[in-house]
Amino acid sequence: MELLHTLINASPDIICFKDGQGRWLEANQAILKLFQLEKIDYQGKTDSQLAHLTHPLYRNILLASEISDKMAWQTQSPIRQAETIPIAPGESSVFDVIKVPIFDVQGNRQGLMVLGRDITKLKQVEESLRHLNEKLTLRIDELDQRRQEITLLSKMGNLLQACFTVAEAYRVIVRFMKQLFPQTQGMLAMLVDNTTELESVALWRENKSDEKIPKIVFTVKDCWALHQNRLYYMGNSTTYPLCHHILPDSVAIYLCVPLIAQGELLGLLHIAQSHLTTEPLNESHQRLAETVADQIALALANLKLRQNLQNQSTRDPLTGLYNRRYLEETLEREFHRAQRHNQTVGVIMVDIDYFKQFNDQFGHDAGDVVLQQLGQFLNEHIRKGDIACRYGGEEFTLILPGAALEVVHTRAKVLNAKVKKLSVQHRNQNLGVITLSIGVACFPQHGSTAEDVLHAADIALYHAKAQGRDQTIVAN
Ligand code: GH3
Ligand code: MG
Ligand code: MG
Repeated sequence: MELLHTLINASPDIICFKDGQGRWLEANQAILKLFQLEKIDYQGKTDSQLAHLTHPLYRNILLASEISDKMAWQTQSPIRQAETIPIAPGESSVFDVIKVPIFDVQGNRQGLMVLGRDITKLKQVEESLRHLNEKLTLRIDELDQRRQEITLLSKMGNLLQACFTVAEAYRVIVRFMKQLFPQTQGMLAMLVDNTTELESVALWRENKSDEKIPKIVFTVKDCWALHQNRLYYMGNSTTYPLCHHILPDSVAIYLCVPLIAQGELLGLLHIAQSHLTTEPLNESHQRLAETVADQIALALANLKLRQNLQNQSTRDPLTGLYNRRYLEETLEREFHRAQRHNQTVGVIMVDIDYFKQFNDQFGHDAGDVVLQQLGQFLNEHIRKGDIACRYGGEEFTLILPGAALEVVHTRAKVLNAKVKKLSVQHRNQNLGVITLSIGVACFPQHGSTAEDVLHAADIALYHAKAQGRDQTIVAN
């Protein structure tokens, strides 16, 4: 018995026995120490009596203990609860407390056994495990996000490589920007060749169709990223200056990344936080934006290079119009298409009158300027889908798919009239009036092949020359 007593006393758990009226009978050192009851004669006292004898810190706990005793008596079964007990001002421990009511065979209550174990450390470990788990989940989410981004980036890279034109590439870029940066809006702007001006070539917005957004034009000076040649993050407009090109009604939290390939500035990628989100653009967005910008810049540089090479083989370098090789290739295609769809194709052959005199009088350079100006003039007087080309020397050809003979004739006469209003200058000299001789022919009236129709227009042009120049003749 003595041994058992020693054992109970030595236990680090709190142990207390109460009689049927809730009066303390026996208590071990641990519980006495906890409630600072060591020097108090606790035997025969109830919780509330002891509450008034001990430190106020424990008063409420001892008072509450009587209530939980009652519950144990009523339910006649052990009750278990976690209790937070102060151990010093501002510090407390959590105890796992179990109260076991004891009854005799008649059901009269005999006593109550109170056992409690300090589980503070356990709780702390539990809490830190929970934290760790949360962190791990977050990390896994992040890794998952990275994996998705890498997949999207590689898909975008593949598609960009398959693009033939920059316009196609812009569409691909917008599609992927929406996926890589959900809940953002933004723009891709490209530097206009040989200027410091940029022009938006693609825009994306949340919940808005992209076509209805007006074009944004700005200069290198309007953007802090372009100024500094590196990413610019605008997180707080009271601390940092805003760029001048931000999208109308945009949230002033955004990223600007210059598009640079092989050391050459190509454009700008601008990504702004959407109105509809509270998720801020963070560091991982910045990292991703830089990677995306690198990839886009490289792809666009390659496309530009490819397009330039292609232009070199299809364009006349002096006038910028298509060359004869391109004309012959395209004409074949246009004629097949017209045949299939029962459509007409108009052909206008143009020759500058007495062009040799420009060369003779003002020099070859002046002659070149005349050719350039006429090239620009012709380009401005055709519609989308028409083709203007320098056929050779001072001869030009216009192809007008779908135009009927009368329309082609009228357009040619307009050229005759308007070209005379051109004022061509070279080295501060006015080079005088340009006049044109024009021959007009049409598919299918004047031939069933491209060659036949071109030939018919050429003969008509010859007649225009013969009949005094500065006029249009329709093939017969
Ligand atoms: P016509 O009214 O009969 O057409 O007379 P023309 O002087 O326009 O025609 P002609 O065929 O006698 O002369 C065409 C000249 O165009 C001859 C050639 O030296 C010149 N020419 C051809 N290509 C170029 C060019 O790229 N630059 C310059 N400056 N002259 C060119
Ligand atoms: Mg000629
Ligand atoms: Mg001529």
